[in-house]
Amino acid sequence: MNYINEEYVEKYILSILPESEEYLRKLEEYAKDFHIPIVEKEVAQLLKVLLKIAKPKKILEIGTAIGYSALIMASSTDDICKITTIERRLDMVGLAKKNIDNTKYKDKIKILYGEAEEILPTLDEGFDFIFLDAAKGQYLGFFNKCMDILPAEGVIVSDNVLFKGMVACDKLVVRRKKTIVKRLREYLDYITHLEGYGTCIIPIGDGVALTYKEE
Ligand code: SAH
Ligand code: MG
Repeated sequence: MNYINEEYVEKYILSILPESEEYLRKLEEYAKDFHIPIVEKEVAQLLKVLLKIAKPKKILEIGTAIGYSALIMASSTDDICKITTIERRLDMVGLAKKNIDNTKYKDKIKILYGEAEEILPTLDEGFDFIFLDAAKGQYLGFFNKCMDILPAEGVIVSDNVLFKGMVACDKLVVRRKKTIVKRLREYLDYITHLEGYGTCIIPIGDGVALTYKEE
């Protein structure tokens, strides 16, 4: 229960989603066993549908973890689409590499090891679909760096923006998460009012924001 949706709604949505393929199911189990926060299945499904509509050629992900969402994205795009994903934990880079190398998508996905705030300014290519799924307190900084590499009509998807519902309701905020919640509120306020961009917030999973860059 994360106070974003009524439990019965979440349960129902999950119950009608198609089963994941075997290699993804294994990663879902691993993530559960080792408490690795991968995208919820309904968010994975949202990503898949968005990618089928947007048909990006170059995807950037911030926050690889074990490579689950990178593989979801790889499996929902055509062969010429390439994915670059950034991760600051070496153990995760190792796990993700192993998981990705085991699939037919290994040539589509490139992992960059390091802090996103340091790597982002060094990227000189454009990315028409960006998935933000890393340190929530830094989203605004990430977004500002991403604006330069996102072409017109590009999309930025930000995960976990409602952070267990805390972002939407003061009563839910636990003390040690106060700063992150404040930053996420500032982030959502910023991206929803930003000229030249359009944003909507979808209350599934842990909250997802979709941002579109106008022409
Ligand atoms: N996208 C993954 C889950 C990512 S979990 C999936 O859904 O399958 C978030 C990951 O972001 C963690 O592994 C964490 O180490 C990484 N991370 C957090 N802050 C980061 C930063 N500033 N730079 C690079 N990686 C970061
Ligand atoms: Mg997430």
